[in-house]
Amino acid sequence: MARINLLDLDLAGLEAFFVDIDEKPFRARQLLQWIHQYRVVDFAEMTNLSKVLREKLSELATITLPEVLQEYISTDGTRKWLIKLGCGNSVETVYIPEGDRGTLCVSSQVGCALTCTFCSTAQQGFNRNLTTGEIIGQLWLANEALGKEPKGNRVVTNVVMMGMGEPLANYKNVVAAMQLMLDDLGYGISWRRVTLSTAGIVPMIDKLREDCRVSLAVSLHAPTDAVRDQIVPLNQKYPISELLAACRRYVGEESKKRHITFEYVMLEGINDSAQDARDLVKLLKGLSSKINLIPFNPFPGTDYQCSSGNVIARFKKVLMDAGMIATIRKTRGDDIVAACGQLAGEVQDKTKRQQRMTMQREAVA
Ligand code: SAH
Repeated sequence: MARINLLDLDLAGLEAFFVDIDEKPFRARQLLQWIHQYRVVDFAEMTNLSKVLREKLSELATITLPEVLQEYISTDGTRKWLIKLGCGNSVETVYIPEGDRGTLCVSSQVGCALTCTFCSTAQQGFNRNLTTGEIIGQLWLANEALGKEPKGNRVVTNVVMMGMGEPLANYKNVVAAMQLMLDDLGYGISWRRVTLSTAGIVPMIDKLREDCRVSLAVSLHAPTDAVRDQIVPLNQKYPISELLAACRRYVGEESKKRHITFEYVMLEGINDSAQDARDLVKLLKGLSSKINLIPFNPFPGTDYQCSSGNVIARFKKVLMDAGMIATIRKTRGDDIVAACGQLAGEVQDKTKRQQRMTMQREAVA
């Protein structure tokens, strides 16, 4: 019988596991602390468990982490890890220090099945969902690499599910991993500092609202369906009106506490006019929100250009003059190709997307 990887289980999952093997459910709490706070992965070192239980655990279970293939360190302090996942696949995790804050950008899938035209991950196609252990393992490995002491200050103060993949398309594993981030016996990070970013899978936004309280970011990128249909093809399934209705439900009654961050990538000549900004103001009126303008980060093979600094500033001014909160995301780690939309890892594409795109290009040429 294959041994179960305990890194795949959140508190509820671990409690069920211990009940299954005829042990007391409170053992789950001890295990959680050993694994995630003390980063001990050898059962023999778990001194508050009896020798018999330790031996039983090593027969039935493992604590298996993904492997770091390579670490890159940017001149601005940003770090990127290439994480090996077997079968020639790998994903990337990025750590962005800024003042007293440290943000970890975590991947949720090998590649991505969505086909947003301006994202380099999309060009690579899709292989598979990450397991819970592979998702939470990125936080574990970052703490290890950054030398976090068990009772020391947090080095990762914020987590954003904004790496490779669409987190709401890997719902169950992503939610279990986020539960571990939130759990006091796990990483104890406040829900305000755990952010899930989605391209807008509407039914899953509603499900998330019920299952797991975290901050939500939505990749909006355009104020009209005509433009969004083109650059975020998922919009053809869940158009802007339905997406914003789900956002309003997510914000709920407590509008003072919860808000949504809308991400908006600045693509020259596509979505960056003053009229686009005014349309965006109208669209988001009355919705408790913040807009994060992301300068487009180029990658090999893309035809898009980033809007100029002036155009981005003008766009921001229209939003601010209308009373909205808008920020321009600083590009970090671009010398190590760690910026938004540049994460690529290594994807053994099952969708044959690269092949299809080359064929399309050849047919046009
Ligand atoms: N699939 C999720 C999580 C990815 S988050 C989502 O779509 O939200 C990564 C963020 O970076 C998203 O807002 C994405 O739209 C944005 N992004 C993708 N490619 C980019 C690029 N080349 N330049 C700047 N931002 C990009």
